[in-house]
Amino acid sequence: MCGIVGYIGDKPAVDILIDGLQRLEYRGYDSAGVAIVNGGLSVEKKQGKVKGLSDTINRAELQGTLGIGHTRWATHGRPNDVNAHPHTNSTGKFAIVHNGIIENFTALKEKLITKGYSFESETDTEVLAHLIDDIQKNTMLPIEEAVRQALTQVVGTYGLAMVSADDPDTLIAARKGSPLIIGVGENEYFLGSDAAPLIEHTRQVVYLNDGEMAVITRGGYQVKSIDNVPLEKEVHELEWDLEQIEKHGYEHFMFKEIMEQPESLENCMRGRISIQDNDVHLGGLIDSLDTLLAADRIIICACGTSWHAALVGEYLIEGLARIPVEVEYASEFRYRNPILREGDVVIVISQSGETADTLAAVHEAKRQGVPVYGVCNVVGSTIARETDAGVYLHAGPEIGVASTKAFSAQVMVLTLIALKLAKGRTLSEAEFATYLNAVVEIPDKIREVLLLDEEIQGLARVYRYASNFLYLGRGFNFPVALEGALKLKEISYIHAEGYPAAEMKHGPIALIDRFMPVVFLAMKDSTYSKVLANIEEVAARQGSAIAITDNGMEIERLCEYVIKIPRTEEFLTPLLAVVPLQLMSYHIAVMRGCNVDQPRNLAKSVTVE
Ligand code: GLU
Repeated sequence: MCGIVGYIGDKPAVDILIDGLQRLEYRGYDSAGVAIVNGGLSVEKKQGKVKGLSDTINRAELQGTLGIGHTRWATHGRPNDVNAHPHTNSTGKFAIVHNGIIENFTALKEKLITKGYSFESETDTEVLAHLIDDIQKNTMLPIEEAVRQALTQVVGTYGLAMVSADDPDTLIAARKGSPLIIGVGENEYFLGSDAAPLIEHTRQVVYLNDGEMAVITRGGYQVKSIDNVPLEKEVHELEWDLEQIEKHGYEHFMFKEIMEQPESLENCMRGRISIQDNDVHLGGLIDSLDTLLAADRIIICACGTSWHAALVGEYLIEGLARIPVEVEYASEFRYRNPILREGDVVIVISQSGETADTLAAVHEAKRQGVPVYGVCNVVGSTIARETDAGVYLHAGPEIGVASTKAFSAQVMVLTLIALKLAKGRTLSEAEFATYLNAVVEIPDKIREVLLLDEEIQGLARVYRYASNFLYLGRGFNFPVALEGALKLKEISYIHAEGYPAAEMKHGPIALIDRFMPVVFLAMKDSTYSKVLANIEEVAARQGSAIAITDNGMEIERLCEYVIKIPRTEEFLTPLLAVVPLQLMSYHIAVMRGCNVDQPRNLAKSVTVE
């Protein structure tokens, strides 16, 4: 969840590390630190944002061309200066940074305490520093071998980077369950927990796999397994560029990402829709199409916003292609010993492709011998590499912690999968053509929705002080209600719940009074008259109804605010309806003075359980 950077080369490391940490800050940000080898070893770390660290470090003392850095998202121990990474051994000779959780840290710690080690921090990570120290002291092994042996004793997950004053030409990295990428430059190497800190320096990267460690020197790098088997690694080319991870004049990444949805969806659709051939082409699934078509059941596993996209996917694939779909929280799926049978296909969805629980669902599906396909945004991510096949979103980097353009691209990819599976089976060529044309119009229709931004700002101004919100929708827009509520919770810290509209009567209606705004997704579709009745029920109890609708008149009579969006096919309405909800959450959060891109306690990709 948090970020790791590393550098070894001929340039001063400190600013490369600080810049890299700033690029990674979206992943976790309760504290930050760097360690530089400069004859000895200097460590500076501090609670708070990278800027705080950058403003206070003594650069004169941090002259060196080898170093590591970290932004922390605390799992063990409060976010404070002492618990911040890097952590050192007792003599302060070497330093490590770590993403993940050392699950057996208590047992290891007790053993080390009996050997006389004392601990400064409350973290699980510090155990690793002393464990490596203990092994090295007793065996006199080279540092990389001591690290390797220490890791064989560790239960849990790690992305690890280490430098030592005794080895001023070596940067060590190891990975199990938490991503690490080596950036290959000219006479210099970089390390990153994702590509963001590497992009401005190099496009050539080597992905470390689980159970692998790298020893990077000024002249090259060697990768081997934790079991000590040397490995040949392929160098890949990153497809994103620096331009895409800049804000371009927008105040927040989240707003930029909301506003660029027409383009991100066009990129997602590019080369995949042929009006001329009346067909959808999903290159990554060509060889898996028959398996999907023959599936008795498709199980979609995901977490958070991706889980909401999965729910839309259930309505899409069942509704259009008539193949049974079940949607699972990846975190539940992995632990409840799910029953998978021949004929089942698992699809996993994860923006980052690194979500720990979703990756575990991939492993569970594989263990049970079921085909598993991925829908990811980050090319070359772990899930993308470990699934049998898949479809990339091509939405471009998503930096805002609250997912927006990845959600719409996930829904778009699922729409294309559903249409492909339905073509010529449950949908005639003519129906398919009508639907495909409607899909192609979506980016322009989103452009129309984005023009409502000012109106939505006005709405946000009115409701910014509310302490609770309800979001209600039916059918395809029930998951949109869940997503709207999640967006508001994530960035404005207002309590919000999403429900299927009809469920209101079974409980939430008790909450309704004149202080409770209720957002209705009320499209003129098969559920419209029912939703209208639910709005009547709220109005009758003096609740403040807000409607997102593609219809007029009657609704205006009942609602305090009506946001009118363009009409489209029923199955495509989530792609339009979610946009005003994203904008409303964004503006409310800004008006409440919240840090939109780095909401408290949240991190972009959840790589711990
Ligand atoms: N477990 C470590 C800590 O709490 C690292 C957590 C993380 O991945 O951010 O310091």
